[in-house]
Amino acid sequence: AALRPSIAELQVAIVAVRAFGIARGGLRYAERYVSHDTTFRLLARLRVWFYQALEPLAPARLQDQRSGDLLARILGDIETLEGFYVRAAAPPLAALLAGAAAGWLLWRFAPALMGAWLVCYLCACLLLPWGMRRLGRATGRRLAERRATLSAALVDGIQGLPDLLAFGQGRRWAAQIEGAGQALATAQQQMAGLNGLQSGLALLLANLGLWSVTLLAIPLVRSGQLDGVYIAAAALAALASFEAAAPLPLATQHLEANLRAAGRLFELADARPEVSDPAQPGALPEASGLQIRGLSFRYPGAGPAEPPALDGLDLDLAAGKKVALVGPSGAGKSTLVGLLARFWEYEQGEIRLGGGELRQLPQATVRQRLAVAPQNPYLFNASLGDNLRLAYPAASDAQIETALRLAGLGGWLERLPQGLETWAGEQGLRLSGGERQRLAVARALLRPAPLLVLDEPTAHLDPPAAAALLETLCAQAEGRALLLITHRLAGLERMDEILVLDGGRVVERGGHAELLRGGGLYRRWWEMEAAGTAGR
Ligand code: ADP
Repeated sequence: AALRPSIAELQVAIVAVRAFGIARGGLRYAERYVSHDTTFRLLARLRVWFYQALEPLAPARLQDQRSGDLLARILGDIETLEGFYVRAAAPPLAALLAGAAAGWLLWRFAPALMGAWLVCYLCACLLLPWGMRRLGRATGRRLAERRATLSAALVDGIQGLPDLLAFGQGRRWAAQIEGAGQALATAQQQMAGLNGLQSGLALLLANLGLWSVTLLAIPLVRSGQLDGVYIAAAALAALASFEAAAPLPLATQHLEANLRAAGRLFELADARPEVSDPAQPGALPEASGLQIRGLSFRYPGAGPAEPPALDGLDLDLAAGKKVALVGPSGAGKSTLVGLLARFWEYEQGEIRLGGGELRQLPQATVRQRLAVAPQNPYLFNASLGDNLRLAYPAASDAQIETALRLAGLGGWLERLPQGLETWAGEQGLRLSGGERQRLAVARALLRPAPLLVLDEPTAHLDPPAAAALLETLCAQAEGRALLLITHRLAGLERMDEILVLDGGRVVERGGHAELLRGGGLYRRWWEMEAAGTAGR
């Protein structure tokens, strides 16, 4: 405009400036909208993917993970990845596009302009992020360490506040926290200094670009190689391109955090599950009897000197039969349940369900045939009805109530004002130990599966309640095969066979009367239990 060209020549520039100026808001909105939409879709998929990868790892591969660490991965790491597109992937892409456009324009004006600009632009895009990363690495590490120290001191101090106050150490602790806070502030100051330096350098490079393009353009205009009207356009294009380079140092930081988070997630997701489904699964036969032959099992990670958790176990459980597995704690009883549910892979021996070897069947099919009441049932923070429907989602309220009645919770349920809608509380903590266990039994009874496995269903019950529950269970198991695991001998006379397990081996087996006559471990236990009950 200063050179006073015809208005027709200025027209394009005027219209473009207005159009872009007005569209800026709308375009920014569209950019945010699209990038966030992509991010959230990605995030949802990522969570589902991670959960699906995690599920086959439970429980064998997850038992060594701290639950806090798992939670951090599921929430923190996935959230870090949430910013991947917006913060780490998009800025380099934008810098590349803006750079290409500016470079092309300057090249059209004069290759020398483009060359001068390119040196500055490459410094801003590559050299600056790289240099700042090197410079900031130690400070960044110090910052993270000091932040962790401060929060650990705070959490410790708050949790132990009563003890600190009781021993008069409150002030000393406060001083320690203050020291940690100051150390953090120093690191933060250093970090802020580095960030300031980086912004300054970025600005310097942008202005260097602007100046070199302008200074180089002047002789070109003088010699008539460049129309003077384009000087401003070249200078402004050079300056504008640096706006796209500004977020790059931060983007490298984000990229690094993203790579670390992804590494941690893949470490778990790539872990081989303990049990995998066979490549060509066999069909499950209709019959439902259970036969175990020579089953030996050692937990992965157990030392060679340790005895196996199960050693040469034989067991036959036809439909309608009832077998009890008794033995001291650590004998391997729950291990058998874990093997039946396909939580662990066994190498030696075989387990046949209805004639089909468990290793040749898909895990889901095996579990369908199994109704397990574990020793430590997990109750979800949901209603009682929902907790029970876990075993049989199609169950009607009447069926659920029947199962609860059979498990000895009929009277209790009637007293609950909200009935099946009663909330179980976090981990079922609003229920007593005995109630939780009976709920687990009800859950197993509800499931229409031919093999019923109850792990210590009477452990939290007093002897009369235990005897009553056992009686109902035996009556109810009609037609189903029942495997009862217990260390209580009362009521076992109803069992077709009793296996006494000690150190993973079956040391005695037979009917109740037969074992009593045998005078072995079972007999000694029986006498001790009888004396204990009589002494109460
Ligand atoms: P029981 O149910 O008879 O009390 P378990 O079957 O739980 O006994 O345990 C048998 C043995 O296996 C014990 O020596 C126990 O330490 C070991 N064990 C149980 N669970 C695990 C596990 N998840 N990982 C490693 N060892 C285990």
